[in-house]
Amino acid sequence: MSMFDTIFLYPPIHCTQCQTLIGETQTKVFGNLLKNYKIGDMVETSEVKTGIIEEHLYCPNCGASSQNIFITIWHSLITGIYLESTEAEAKLLSIDRADILNHLMTHQRSYEELLRRYLNLYHTIEGYHEYITASATGREWDPGIRFLSTRVSEFVKSKDPLFAILESFKPLRTEEYEEEVSDE
Ligand SMILES: [Zn+2]
Repeated sequence: MSMFDTIFLYPPIHCTQCQTLIGETQTKVFGNLLKNYKIGDMVETSEVKTGIIEEHLYCPNCGASSQNIFITIWHSLITGIYLESTEAEAKLLSIDRADILNHLMTHQRSYEELLRRYLNLYHTIEGYHEYITASATGREWDPGIRFLSTRVSEFVKSKDPLFAILESFKPLRTEEYEEEVSDE
């Protein structure tokens, strides 16, 4: 099986042939582990530790792959994706501490956001579990103030509470890392 990794493009790049916005592209230069990367991620499996990797940009709409992108790697950190090799080179040479801290801060923010969503999910399921346990024994469920930060009270009124919870906690694009979870 031919394997590859996916690199997300922020912002997306317009296909020069059909103008479609391309938000991700496949690459075989990072170890082909079916992993997803974006700017600010470390790629320890990359053979290039510091340098520029040229990659074809494939358009899923028209199939064109004549356009190239230039990925800058600085000590295994993906620092940027550019359309011109000269720009990639200039940016790679001018990386400074502020850039690195910026990537670090982005990671910290996304960690905090993920943690917040996880705890919200946990407490939502916890509240729903209490609700069905109470219902099963004929007791009335009183969420009190414990689930105020969640939408449990709203979900239990829905026809299919579990479905409503799932809909509300669908993974975000950035969370769909290790595997595809939103194939519909
Ligand atoms: Zn195209």
